[in-house]
Amino acid sequence: MDLRARLALLFLAAGLLLGLSNVLLYRSNDRLVEDMRWVMHSHLVRKEIGAVELAAHDMSASMRDLVLTRRENAVNEYVDARERMHVSVERVKQLVADHRAQGDNVQKLIALAATRRETMDRLLHTQQRDPAAALSLINQGSDREGIADFTALIQAMHEIEGNLLGERESATRASVARTQLLLVVAAVTAIALLGLCLILVWREQRRRQITEASLREAAIALEAALTESRGLSSALRQLGEMAEMLQSCQSISEAYAVARATLPALLGGSAGTVQTINASQNLVETALEWGEPAIARETLFAPEACLAIRRGQPYPPAGAQVVLHCQHLHDSAAASPAQYLCVPLSAQGAAFGILHVSCAGPIDASLRRDCIAAAEQLSLSLANLRLQDSLRTQSIRDPLTGLFNRRYLEASLPRELQRAERRQSDLSVLMLDIDHFKRFNDTQGHDAGDALLAQVGVVLAQVARSEDIVCRYGGEEFTLVLLDTDLDQALGRAEQVRRAIAAIDVSHRRVHLGRVTCSIGLASYPPHGNTPADLIARADRALYLAKESGRDRVEAARAVV
Ligand code: GH3
Ligand code: MG
Ligand code: MG
Repeated sequence: MDLRARLALLFLAAGLLLGLSNVLLYRSNDRLVEDMRWVMHSHLVRKEIGAVELAAHDMSASMRDLVLTRRENAVNEYVDARERMHVSVERVKQLVADHRAQGDNVQKLIALAATRRETMDRLLHTQQRDPAAALSLINQGSDREGIADFTALIQAMHEIEGNLLGERESATRASVARTQLLLVVAAVTAIALLGLCLILVWREQRRRQITEASLREAAIALEAALTESRGLSSALRQLGEMAEMLQSCQSISEAYAVARATLPALLGGSAGTVQTINASQNLVETALEWGEPAIARETLFAPEACLAIRRGQPYPPAGAQVVLHCQHLHDSAAASPAQYLCVPLSAQGAAFGILHVSCAGPIDASLRRDCIAAAEQLSLSLANLRLQDSLRTQSIRDPLTGLFNRRYLEASLPRELQRAERRQSDLSVLMLDIDHFKRFNDTQGHDAGDALLAQVGVVLAQVARSEDIVCRYGGEEFTLVLLDTDLDQALGRAEQVRRAIAAIDVSHRRVHLGRVTCSIGLASYPPHGNTPADLIARADRALYLAKESGRDRVEAARAVV
């Protein structure tokens, strides 16, 4: 049964009880009134009987007074008493009409009263005619005739009425007690029922308060979830737009431009930077940045300085106790570890950079989520573009030195020769070989040999003009194609190259490895040949000559005879 039904039932019961007790109370009250009326009636009867007795007594007394003292007024007093007795007897008759025993007694009383009146009237009559005779009658006690019966009857009637009065008074008391008991029982029961209602209502109210509180909590949680989902959908839209834009990028710089345009809005309220590890894998450089950083940071640092790069995971980890801090951030990072986040940019499990953000307040879960999602997008896109770049470069570039490769030389030399022919200009080819490189490798190690080759590549690129073609021909051999350069000029340039290489202070892992020399052979168009193969072969032979002649020198091809 639900609360409403229970309350209705209890109220109904309480109402019925109160109604019933009211009815009983009215009835009991009527009874009480009736009982009291009978008590009053008994009192009235007793009073009237008393009045009859008094009137009878007054009649005797006034008659004696008249006979003995002859006081004039005594006659009037007698007449008055006589009348009073008559009236009182009539009243008693009326009052006890309902009571059989008293009714019988009243009849006797009427008779005895009449006898008394006659006796007294006779005495009065005698007194008026012969006072002496009246006196003698008094002395004989004839005025007392029938008085004993009269008094006995009065006494009996008094007794009967006294008994009736006692019965009626105890009936009244019983009525009062019953009414009081009824009132107490009804009041206590009604109070108990209403109290029960109150308890039920109070329990229901408490249940509702609890339900309301949980509803309120649920509403707050719902609101938060809605806000979160609104934020999420906006972030997802922005991420989607960024992904779409990144997909259409053809170069890394375009991808950076897209990131610079979208990241500040996507990661609202934060300042940040995208930093990537350089080609030699020894430095992290800044590619782009936005906002005023909340934690000061380095723009150039070693990859090991960033814990996100070291761990290959976002740093600091969510909700974890932070003990270590990224060294590329200044000391304030330790004071506010929750205010920054580094997310690694990685491809095939290896980090190639980071997305770093910092905020004035703690980084919340949604910003963290958006950072990680943006870093994933950027990683994919940048890795893809880097791969494309490296594929493109690999096909014409030598990965160790960054110079063109032999394939490029073979493709471009015929083209340049044709152009020289058409323009009737000169062209020279330099073949360069590092002296005793095998020995260098053997004594310093292959890694040191690689480092040397890379430095030679840098020096060659520096001394070459922009229109020259600088190639790694293979191994420790290099080829330079100098456009618009005749034999004499080429000899000068070759000498310049030789000196530049001899000047390299080779060092690897901070260890000085000494110096190396090189030998150069050169051939020029038109004097030494007019095909690429000819020119290369003649330059190669000149190089062999330079080696033969003691190395560390430049030799020109012999002129064609
Ligand atoms: P020479 O003065 O006569 O040129 O003596 P050399 O030792 O330089 O000549 P050789 O041709 O005997 O040795 C060339 C060495 O270069 C052999 C090979 O191990 C080494 N080499 C070739 N390519 C590379 C490379 O990419 N890296 C390293 N470290 N060594 C290479
Ligand atoms: Mg060689
Ligand atoms: Mg060599």
